[in-house]
Amino acid sequence: MKITVFGTGYVGLVTGTCLADVGHDVVCVDIDRNKIERLVQGDIPIYEPGLESMVLRNVEARRLRFTTDAGMAVEHGVLQFIAVGTPPDEDGSADLQYVLAVASTIGQYMNGYKVVIDKSTVPVGTADKVRDRIESVLAERVADVPFDVCSNPEFLKEGSALEDFTRGARIVVGTDSDRVSDLMRECYAPYNRNREKLMFMSVRAAELTKYAANAMLATKISFMNEIANLAERLGADIEDVRRGIGSDPRIGYHFIYPGCGYGGSCFPKDVQALARTASKVGYEAELLKAVEAVNKRQKSTLFEKLSHALNGELEGKTIAVWGLSFKPETDDMRDAPSRTLMEALWAHGVTVQAYDPEAMKECRRIYGERDDLILVADRIQAVKKADALVICTEWKEFRTLDAEWIRGQLSTPVVIDGRNLFDPQTMALAGVDYYAVGRGKTL
Ligand code: NAD
Repeated sequence: MKITVFGTGYVGLVTGTCLADVGHDVVCVDIDRNKIERLVQGDIPIYEPGLESMVLRNVEARRLRFTTDAGMAVEHGVLQFIAVGTPPDEDGSADLQYVLAVASTIGQYMNGYKVVIDKSTVPVGTADKVRDRIESVLAERVADVPFDVCSNPEFLKEGSALEDFTRGARIVVGTDSDRVSDLMRECYAPYNRNREKLMFMSVRAAELTKYAANAMLATKISFMNEIANLAERLGADIEDVRRGIGSDPRIGYHFIYPGCGYGGSCFPKDVQALARTASKVGYEAELLKAVEAVNKRQKSTLFEKLSHALNGELEGKTIAVWGLSFKPETDDMRDAPSRTLMEALWAHGVTVQAYDPEAMKECRRIYGERDDLILVADRIQAVKKADALVICTEWKEFRTLDAEWIRGQLSTPVVIDGRNLFDPQTMALAGVDYYAVGRGKTL
């Protein structure tokens, strides 16, 4: 099939590449010239395990092309995926300007039947807005070209995006058209061979499904963080509690790890956007607001614990930070807990000495060159001459720590672990002031 994908970010690039990998003829289009130039040269702008070789293989086979030429891209595909960003606007609602700009572009250039597919995470009712936008552009052109709009939200996770796209639990398609259903079935057939993963539903249900899934996952995290904060104050070890509740199959072990708050490009903005959608239809989503508030508070606990451990004497100190990305296996730092921490540290005159296996380039891009941000080549250099260590991301290479060694490295033996990686007793026996989440030393 001929397929066009608008947006070559985490979702668009993975979608285009995975669809090309099963034989479709894919054109990926972006307005970011620099990104497209890099992609054309085989330089992948994001870190995602396995993606680089898959892109190169499909470019080589001429099934995958990158362009900034929107006219050519619209002409190419019968399926037009929209996978551009939907960041929050001032009041937390999803900002649809990029999605609607693509709709205008499609309306401007289309000359034959197209299925316009909202893959971006968009509020309920967006498919109608996309349709209206295309219709009004066609009206301006005095052109009568048939098209359909459907919803096909994406559930991939950064860090395992290829696996999720190719072997995900479900493929949700929102449409009321048989023609669209047939085309979408054909598009996804290679990924739908052994098990019926395709779920057809109304456009509105599909749009809401994406937000409901993210809101549920964010709720689990905030719930667990709330219980961890309680455990800390009640003298219980949250890791025992986690195992105790996870063993109940009605609860399960997935997504109940306490930590320093969720980040990334999806949970924070999607929870907010769903709460805004709710209030726009006259419903105050109290649970969603609490999920967000708990998360906001949780992100500041790393700083609070550190400040407590150092008796508030932060000015002039150097703090080692392990992990900058919002989770392992990605270089994405959008809304990462490390950012809340670093910004608070800088405001208190602290120098950050940080290491991340993949996100240091991104960190430099965001914060630029500054005297109080030193990026180093490995975790060992990060703790050299540092006063304390804070762990923000649970990258595999951070999962072991020689307690005696770290005590010897730091001028004050303070370790703040936002991911509960180590045994508090071992740390305490070695003389490390070890603060974790819901265990270890308490405030
Ligand atoms: P991103 O910011 O990484 O990429 C968006 C891309 O769209 C950018 O390269 C940008 O230049 C491009 N773009 C903007 N306007 C354009 C236009 N008019 N024409 C062509 N390209 C244009 O975003 P992302 O993380 O890939 O997310 C995209 C959407 O998918 C969002 O709605 C997001 O909520 C959703 N989503 C993201 C994830 C994730 O893990 N990142 C997972 C599921 C769903």
